[in-house]
Amino acid sequence: MRTLCWLSLLLLAGCAEPPTGPTAKAIIGASLIDGTGAPPIEDAVIIVAGSRIRAAGPRAVVPIPAGAEKLDGTGLWVTPGLIDLHVHLGAKAGPRFDASEYTRERIERNLAAYLAYGITAVRSVGTEREAGFAVRQAIRDGSLAAPALFTAGRGFTAPGGHPSQEIGDIARQPADAAGARQQVSELAAQRADLIKIWIDDLGGTAPKIRPEVTEAILAAAREANIPVVAHIHSLADALHLTRNGAAGFLHMVRDTEDLPGAALAEWKEKQIVFAPTLVRQELAWLFQEQPALLDDPVLAATLEPGVLDAVRAAKSEPSARAREEFARAIRNTGRAAKAGVPIGAGSDGGSAIDFPGWAFHRELELLVQAGLSPLETVTAATRNGALALGQLAERGTVETGKRADLVIVRGNPLEDIRRLRAIERVMLGGQWVER
Ligand SMILES: [Zn+2]
Repeated sequence: MRTLCWLSLLLLAGCAEPPTGPTAKAIIGASLIDGTGAPPIEDAVIIVAGSRIRAAGPRAVVPIPAGAEKLDGTGLWVTPGLIDLHVHLGAKAGPRFDASEYTRERIERNLAAYLAYGITAVRSVGTEREAGFAVRQAIRDGSLAAPALFTAGRGFTAPGGHPSQEIGDIARQPADAAGARQQVSELAAQRADLIKIWIDDLGGTAPKIRPEVTEAILAAAREANIPVVAHIHSLADALHLTRNGAAGFLHMVRDTEDLPGAALAEWKEKQIVFAPTLVRQELAWLFQEQPALLDDPVLAATLEPGVLDAVRAAKSEPSARAREEFARAIRNTGRAAKAGVPIGAGSDGGSAIDFPGWAFHRELELLVQAGLSPLETVTAATRNGALALGQLAERGTVETGKRADLVIVRGNPLEDIRRLRAIERVMLGGQWVER
């Protein structure tokens, strides 16, 4: 069957492409984790032509076209390109946020860091301004080789609500439902890929967006056919949003472990993807407790001068509540996964000391800690990311016809998920990335 598909594709390719057209690329002999959740294919062959995967499977059934550029994959492992569902672009990183850092140059630098870590698509959730939309356009028209960018533009919160204490009026803070609807139409005019709402009263210390304003945003977004993704903390808010048509969540329910079976079943049925973003919680103490993590040479290479020193110098005492909520979020992530709720991977990269790319791989470790198997974690980082983006037909798995976004690593990530950082090569849309 695969051979027949391949032959017909070969014929089509032969008709469509002149003899001087792009040479096919063949990755031969690697183990393939295709992102679908299927067990790995050993001694696989992956054929890429142009920007697309033309065939992938066991060596015995995938012929290698004459003249293909060959890569010997012996001892290597291939996964789909990784997808980070929770990023903020344009920050320098470090303990202090500064809105003036948001420039096109810095956005491109952040995206290059994601790519270096094998991330070939990112979802930017709520802090995007014009420069980010310009970068998105450059990526889409092919003038910039960078991870695919899906952006929410500027997200919504309550007047004075989280995270305006950090980012000021970058967060939209409509006073009422009418103001919210008006701002949804601004986002529709910008062709935002999604809409972001923050719903978190920071343990009762910050105002929270009112339910009628949230409902107005969701209704206007539905009319404009734009999915809504929310930062949540409480179960009650997650349930209210689910009832009103939210498409996905950032962070995990952190105020209770009493996740009703009916809610889990509904999230599973509606395929609502959670990006638990556990790493963001852990960062409250991680570098203070394990400062050696900051000695990673890749961090030194991808961060701007002075950032690591500033992080080393920063001291804060995480509250008992923060630690409790982290443990709870870990357990709830495991429960949701077990119940069949799709879990994606998001890092909050670019917010404060949450380093682009690095934090994503830490998140994968935490998903394993939460009880996902390494194979499920790869699916979370690839296929479920594409599901959350509404991009399953285009990316997220290594299957015929999809975009050729690939990560090739040394060693078996199913034995240790940290092997996904041992990156040998990254392919973006059929092209090897210069690293
Ligand atoms: Zn965030």
